[in-house]
Amino acid sequence: MRIEAWDAVVVGTGLAGMTAALALSPLKTLLITKTDTLESGSTPWAQGGVAFPADEQDIPVHIQDTLEAGSHAGNQAVVEFLIRQAPLALSWLENQGFSFDHGVDGQYDRGQEGSHSRRRILHAGGDATGAALSRFFAKKVTQASHVSVRTQIFAVDLATDPYGVSGVWLWDAQGALLVTTRRVILATGGWGQVFPRTTAPVEATGDGAVMAFRSGADLRDPEMIQFHPTGLETTKSGQVPLLTEALRGEGAPLITASHEKDLTPLTIPHPLGALGPRDTVARAVFLRRQQGFGVWLDVRSIPHLEQHFPTAVSVAHQSGFNPLQEPLPVIPVAHYIMGGVKTNRSGGTRVPGLYVIGEAASSGVHGANRLASNSLLECLVFGLASANAAVHQVTPPIVTPITTPQRLQGPLVPLQEIERFRKQLRDVTYQSGGPVRNGQELQDGLNQLEKLTQEWRRSAVVPLSDQTTREHLQAFIETDNLLVLSRQILRAALARGSSLGAHYRSDAP
Ligand SMILES: Cc1cc2nc3c(=O)[nH]c(=O)nc-3n(C[C@H](O)[C@H](O)[C@H](O)COP(=O)(O)OP(=O)(O)OC[C@H]3O[C@@H](n4cnc5c(N)ncnc54)[C@H](O)[C@@H]3O)c2cc1C
Repeated sequence: MRIEAWDAVVVGTGLAGMTAALALSPLKTLLITKTDTLESGSTPWAQGGVAFPADEQDIPVHIQDTLEAGSHAGNQAVVEFLIRQAPLALSWLENQGFSFDHGVDGQYDRGQEGSHSRRRILHAGGDATGAALSRFFAKKVTQASHVSVRTQIFAVDLATDPYGVSGVWLWDAQGALLVTTRRVILATGGWGQVFPRTTAPVEATGDGAVMAFRSGADLRDPEMIQFHPTGLETTKSGQVPLLTEALRGEGAPLITASHEKDLTPLTIPHPLGALGPRDTVARAVFLRRQQGFGVWLDVRSIPHLEQHFPTAVSVAHQSGFNPLQEPLPVIPVAHYIMGGVKTNRSGGTRVPGLYVIGEAASSGVHGANRLASNSLLECLVFGLASANAAVHQVTPPIVTPITTPQRLQGPLVPLQEIERFRKQLRDVTYQSGGPVRNGQELQDGLNQLEKLTQEWRRSAVVPLSDQTTREHLQAFIETDNLLVLSRQILRAALARGSSLGAHYRSDAP
């Protein structure tokens, strides 16, 4: 078996992981991703931007907006930490050499998004903020002398001993690799792929959350899932295109068909209408569609649409729509996971030396619903905070022998059967744990998952060996992780018997 020793390991090359890796200097840091390229995860898909308080006076307002969007279920002290650290994170970004878009007056061009009471969203490349950040940081980590970067390497499980985390088990083209370290930062993103339609990419399978959970960290609020009201409706399942909220911020209305087939504004039960909290807007779209009526986003009135929203225009064209001439059909899709591994202000978990940051974490910032564009801010602030804590952490020597985890002893489900299980578990998760839930359907969903899990275990008949490909092991473990997360979502949604924020129970509205 191959073994390597590193000062620190960061799993995930989204904004959270790359920020942490850079800030871990001078520790010798291994930064990995399971994908082919560093520019991966949800980060490159982010369009709207990053929420930074517009000025000193805006700090309390931004704090209030964040708490209100989260139905006051967020942790006030952590929200205050996030927003008060935001100007420092912005300075750090600027010092790294990153630049957001400026207006003609030479000042930052701040955008408006739903539930923000001020224009405070910074963007780059118009609506291609995430792609710009990913590209920039991929170059930075590749150039950083303390960071060693590897792609196509899959994190399977953590190793722990009585002093905390002691390593990470990885799998690449040559098979198993044990990396020993006292500092592991998991920045593995969310798990939108547990639903049949999501804005998140294929790699969003919640591996880090399950690894942390298996090693003793707590999962918090897994039922808190944000459904974005305006996924572009296409025939595709899996990752679907997003029509950013910033389009509604710039005045694009949501419209629906009436009985007379006329197009009328969609009624949204909130004073801010289409710019109300995402859960309210998503439910209004979901329920209207359930009644058999289509819902569209009409972006035609936005001035200079192609210049300000090149990504939205391009995804619409790629899906066969002309946004300059026709309203775009929309559907609510899984977008952001508010719950995750319970962490403190440094991203620390109850396992010493194990940090979880970014979308994989439940830091207490988002409560029952995330305020738009706060997540990239969270990646930056907690990326920096976790690195700082890890650099200053006490690291006892690793003396206990590390044994191969059960997950690397096999057997596996045959590769060609895995997709069928994935499809089934996704359908069950959405039918029971979608934007509108009720106790009976949640219980039915859990029963179906139980049967599916038993069938999954019975189907695991292929022995694991050094010849096992990364693709096969990865597909197997990702699906195993999704089964765990689906069960956690439905269980928690059943246990939370009343509605709160994004968690809506039609039997207890
Ligand atoms: C379409 C879309 C638009 C969005 N728009 C915005 C926006 O405008 N503003 C905003 O603030 N937020 C937005 N979000 C949310 C935001 O993009 C994400 O919350 C954020 O990028 C998450 O960053 P992250 O670093 O935590 O994880 P990610 O960017 O998801 O990165 C996860 C990384 O972990 C790696 N990984 C996962 N599992 C393993 C494993 N087992 N082994 C090795 N590597 C692994 C992945 O390959 C990837 O590199 C948007 C999200 C989507 C999907």
